[in-house]
Amino acid sequence: MSQKVFSTEAPPSSVLHASLSINPPKIVRAEGHYLYTTDGTKIFDASGGAAVSCLGHNNARVKRAIMDQLNKVEYTFSPHFTTDAYEQLAKFLVDSTGGAMKKVFVTGSGSEAVEACLKMARQYFMELPEPQPQRTRFIARDRSYHGNTIASLSVSGHKARRAIYEPMLLQNMSFVSPCYPYRDMRKGETDEQYVARLAQELEDEFQRVGPNTVCGVVLETMAGLTLGAVAPVPGYLKAMKAVCERHGALFVLDEVLAGMGRTGTLHAWEQEDVVPDLQTVAKGLGAGYAPIGALLVGKKVVDVLSQGTKAFMHFQTYHGHPTACAAAYEVQQVIKDEGLVENCRKMGIYLGERLRDRLGVHKNVGEIRGRGLVWAIELVQDRVTKAPFPVQTKVAPTIHAAGLQKFAIALLPGGGVVDGMNGDLVVLAPPYTITREDVDLIVEHTAKAIESILGPAE
Ligand code: PLP
Repeated sequence: MSQKVFSTEAPPSSVLHASLSINPPKIVRAEGHYLYTTDGTKIFDASGGAAVSCLGHNNARVKRAIMDQLNKVEYTFSPHFTTDAYEQLAKFLVDSTGGAMKKVFVTGSGSEAVEACLKMARQYFMELPEPQPQRTRFIARDRSYHGNTIASLSVSGHKARRAIYEPMLLQNMSFVSPCYPYRDMRKGETDEQYVARLAQELEDEFQRVGPNTVCGVVLETMAGLTLGAVAPVPGYLKAMKAVCERHGALFVLDEVLAGMGRTGTLHAWEQEDVVPDLQTVAKGLGAGYAPIGALLVGKKVVDVLSQGTKAFMHFQTYHGHPTACAAAYEVQQVIKDEGLVENCRKMGIYLGERLRDRLGVHKNVGEIRGRGLVWAIELVQDRVTKAPFPVQTKVAPTIHAAGLQKFAIALLPGGGVVDGMNGDLVVLAPPYTITREDVDLIVEHTAKAIESILGPAE
């Protein structure tokens, strides 16, 4: 195990890094599951960047597909031209939903997919045979994250990321409780009772704001980085959709993180017996080989636009970028050919078991949860009261730094550190290509990083 300590002195850099005083370690090479720093340290990429690198690094097939596309047509302006690459990726995505989704709009990121989605929802109500211009509101959830651009941040219930921009955000947004059993389920409450309570809260919010003012309800199918790998309680999404439908609002699932195999099915909603009206995907779509996201548009919405203006009133210079589309299409073919969604499911079960064996008894581990290959360890001061650590103790970032510097593992810190409302989170989102040996390594190094800050498991 490497014991290298990175320099925290910032050499001059023109990059506007997250910190203006400390540069992050420089990665000079990436291969398979490993990142290599300037000084030769080999780091296991257990977070896939931000839950992105689902194939690992330096995949030969994807590189070839990118090169082939560059040799054909690297870029065109999508409102004026189409390409085989864009057509092929869109058809793959539509087919992957069994035809539930009818059209695809490819963006450059998850936030842009969410932006396009919000505009699409508004346009839908403006183009109904009897337009409903009063529908301007979205209902989302506390402690959610849907992106960092102004509109996507406006539907994010992430207090810390919103804080200084609050007066600039879209004002007519509502937030209801997330589905977060570890903290919010009452003692003795059944899944059914909990789901009924959350559905009632959504119903109450519709009534409070006026049901016919709501464009849609926006939810992460599986809460990812900020709440920490929380899978929905059985029946929860179905109940939320029923409330939406009762009031004619659109049911929007953000699968930027949970989609494209990460949770053990290509679309996370497949496990929940619901189909969204609008869906976003991003991270696992291009696996980091291209910056790419997509909005998937369901039949109900496409039908209305087809009878209306017959146009989507939104475009960007780089939307439908052919090279990004070619990369993403090949990523998806590799996932299919190598049975990686199945591996994601299998390795996810093993990862959960191993994490619970190794860390389940630790005095500061409140909960270990996840599905597929996104897992979170929620850390607390006290397991009985579930009291989080004070935000200023920065437990998760400190563990992240220890992971990198002493145990050669890249983890994702989150939770209390950015919000103060839940415990600190150590999130794992490794590539779908991992083996049981990789899982053993991830668990051991993650445990050591946690123990180096919080003491040994008891
Ligand atoms: N939606 C969800 C659920 C996310 O997890 C993220 C990013 O973490 C986003 C949207 C924003 O995506 P991007 O960072 O690609 O803009």
